[in-house]
Amino acid sequence: MRGWSAILAAVFLAASHVGAFDWTVIKFEGRDYVPLQDVARFYNFIQADYSYDHLQLSNTVLRMQGSVNSRELYLNGLKFILSFPIIGIDNRPAISRIDLSKLVEPVLRPARIQTAPARTIVLDAGHGGFDQGARSVRGNEKDFTLDVVLRARDLLQAAGYNVRLTRSADVFIPLELRAAFASYQSNALFISVHFNSGMRADAEGIETYCLAPRGVPSSNDITLTFSDFRPCLGNVRDPENIALATAIHTALITRLGVGDRGIKRARFVVLRDNTVPGVLIEGGFLTNAVDDMRVANPAFRQNMAQAIVQGIEAYNRAVERGTAGSAGAIAKGNTAPPLSSSINTNSAAAATPGSIWTPFSNDVYALPEAAK
Ligand SMILES: [Zn+2]
Repeated sequence: MRGWSAILAAVFLAASHVGAFDWTVIKFEGRDYVPLQDVARFYNFIQADYSYDHLQLSNTVLRMQGSVNSRELYLNGLKFILSFPIIGIDNRPAISRIDLSKLVEPVLRPARIQTAPARTIVLDAGHGGFDQGARSVRGNEKDFTLDVVLRARDLLQAAGYNVRLTRSADVFIPLELRAAFASYQSNALFISVHFNSGMRADAEGIETYCLAPRGVPSSNDITLTFSDFRPCLGNVRDPENIALATAIHTALITRLGVGDRGIKRARFVVLRDNTVPGVLIEGGFLTNAVDDMRVANPAFRQNMAQAIVQGIEAYNRAVERGTAGSAGAIAKGNTAPPLSSSINTNSAAAATPGSIWTPFSNDVYALPEAAK
């Protein structure tokens, strides 16, 4: 990119630490960016390819792919929507600092999130009562969501979890009440189940949302607005939120074999006003013929319930490794700043193969086509 007034400044964070990682921070249009070269070094990606505005970082277990001017980032083929596009300065691709700290870091190193595994799961069946949600000839969103939730409840209870439902019947519950109900639970996760409707009949696939960090646009918006800077209760759970979304979305995509629309951010009321880690699943489009046929099939909904349980278990295992202090991959003295006050920066370590968690333990995803 030519003509950009990039100010290159090497910032030495935690400089007093011997062996501290020296992140390069690039200012562009008032925002901080970090070169992917630094990301590759920090997370031990031994191969890095930046040709033709496409980038690919890889090691033996992990592959990160993206493109300059794109918000799509793929990790082992799983799709994430970044808060800001990757930029290219002097042929060097760079990722926004907030995406590094609020997405890459918690997703690659969930064991470092300071939180406890959850024993209570709050399941939230979208819509209800007069609010039918999306509709198709095969049924209403409110009925499909309740069915998935009841199936997931049975599976979770059998696995020993405490389960709370925001609704267990066809009734209307205001969004604020759902979030408040979840926030009242301790040591809990919040899983909201929805199905989508699209303006276009060819819109299909599954997307998983978690709360947008403060100061970034929602995934479905391009530009920032003033309201994006409003503090939200749920932002205290930023690292957990994205880790949970990663675990749940991975399970959904791999189990259900449906289109991957990505892990996205939004400020939905049930996520925004919620103090427990939460996600909102859009499990397919009732306005798409193929998705609609799938969702109407009880076997699909059972499979979706199983994926939810699988995702919760993967999340719990990942954060448990951190609380148990048994990650085994923390190299003392290898200090590096994940650039966020919400993340402990005292003893960072690279995402060595041994620290890879369930979603990335198997490279089961198809290679995404190079983004256009
Ligand atoms: Zn809905």
